[in-house]
Amino acid sequence: MSKKSSSATTKISSFVLLVIFITLALSLTALILAISAFSSNGIAAYYLLLIGFLGAALSTYVLFQTRKRIKRLSIKTPSVTTTIECRKCGFKSVRDFQRGDYIFREVDPCQKCNENMLITAIYREVEEKKKRTLF
Ligand SMILES: [Zn+2]
Repeated sequence: MSKKSSSATTKISSFVLLVIFITLALSLTALILAISAFSSNGIAAYYLLLIGFLGAALSTYVLFQTRKRIKRLSIKTPSVTTTIECRKCGFKSVRDFQRGDYIFREVDPCQKCNENMLITAIYREVEEKKKRTLF
C-alpha cells in the first residue's frame, strides 16, 4: 500500500493504460452499437462488430505486452550519469545521477579553483558495445 513510485516508467505505463482503456471503451461502444444496428442496418452492424472485436483484442494484447515490458524494465534499471563542469577552469567530472539533479544546477565547488560547478549534462549510459564515445 505504501509503495512509492514516481519514476518515468510508471508515468509511461499509466499513459499507456489510459490509451488501452479508451480503446477498450470505444470497442465496447462499437459492439453495443453493432447490436442495436443489427435490426436496421445489417452491413454497418457487421463492420461495428468487427471494429469492436479488433479493438478489444488489440487493447488486451497491448495490455499484456506492456505488463511484460514493465516487469522487465523494473528489474533492470539503466544507469544515469551526470556530468559536472566548472565554468572557470573547465574542469569536468562525471558521477552517477542523484535524485534532484538537473541541468545548470550548482553543485559542489570545483576541486581546482573552488568555484561552484554546474551540471552540464545528464544522460543514460547506453550498453552498446559497438558504439564508440568520442569523449
Ligand atoms: Zn574550476
